[in-house]
Amino acid sequence: MNDRGPTRYDLDRTGIVALLERVAPDQPRYRADQLWDGLHRRLLGPDELTELPRALRAALAGHPAMALALEPEGEWVADGGETRKWVWRLADGGRIESVLMHARGRSTVCVSTQAGCAMACGFCATGQAGFDRHLRVGEIVEQVARAAKVSADDGRRLSHVVFMGMGEPLANYDATWAAVRSIHDGLGLSARHLTISTVGIAPGIRRLATEALPVNLAVSLHAADDGLRDELVPVNRRYPLAELAAACREYVRATGRRLSFEWALISGVNDRPDDAVRLAAFALALGAHVNLIPLNPTPGYPVVGSSPAAVRSFRDALRSRGVNVTVRRTRGREIAAACGQLAGGRTPPPAPVALRGRRARG
Ligand code: SAH
Repeated sequence: MNDRGPTRYDLDRTGIVALLERVAPDQPRYRADQLWDGLHRRLLGPDELTELPRALRAALAGHPAMALALEPEGEWVADGGETRKWVWRLADGGRIESVLMHARGRSTVCVSTQAGCAMACGFCATGQAGFDRHLRVGEIVEQVARAAKVSADDGRRLSHVVFMGMGEPLANYDATWAAVRSIHDGLGLSARHLTISTVGIAPGIRRLATEALPVNLAVSLHAADDGLRDELVPVNRRYPLAELAAACREYVRATGRRLSFEWALISGVNDRPDDAVRLAAFALALGAHVNLIPLNPTPGYPVVGSSPAAVRSFRDALRSRGVNVTVRRTRGREIAAACGQLAGGRTPPPAPVALRGRRARG
């Protein structure tokens, strides 16, 4: 955690009220609603809120708590404009990434919850790079607000958020959950369109089971036996499969929501017939959906993803056992924006890329 003060999307409604009481004690209370609405619903900066008196606008525009937290360092576009990745520089020099993906009927942003990651999964570029720090609420929410603004300017509406970028959301639980609340209450996204993806922090899953907002939970499983999972996902040594399954069961029982498992298919490592048998048993016992992700290449992991034919036969093996399974499209690979490829700009995407450095707005 850095020791800087709050930025534009850190303050909740109470914080906005308190800020206005300090900056402009003579102003009526409805100014707080106007400011909140302007920032969160209309995605504008305080200087753009023409309904506020000019002096107040100026005072807010110069106030550190209204500053943006993310400085765009680069922006890459792929898939004919349907996938867009940003590398953001944080105030302390750290770097994070977010990815916006448009598809028919939905626009999804994948956001980071930490600069780096301490979970050390060998096949993930973020894990290879190590941990820098937790993100603050405002740094998480601003990724969503900026993606929502870019989408709106393109005539699309940001509809979904996945907490699947850099970092482990449940290792930064408080900020992640405060961001969920803000995205739901302020930006107005439906809780059912928000998905938290975890490496399998069992106590975090149990805590999530007690929350009132019905967000989706995805667990990065990748192996359904402890020996292999200890290798692929080192945190398994701390929360082995039996404990993970118990936490997942509690989550499903408490919330009635569907759980999904993510499984990055690695050639010869976790795409064998036995792996499908074990995964099927594990998923069926919890009524979970399985999302297969052909492994995306990363600089520090020599093993390759399963071939398209191996992906299909793994999928079919699960299906024949009655598992609900889908194969995730690998989007943005050529700009290093696909699952597991986000390294905070440490590994710049290969040329040619459409790099458009942009100045921070409003
Ligand atoms: N820490 C969280 C969220 C970030 S990872 C988690 O582990 O779930 C988002 C998803 O991408 C996870 O399912 C992760 O296992 C997967 N992933 C990581 N590296 C990958 C790679 N090289 N190829 C495909 N998927 C990968």
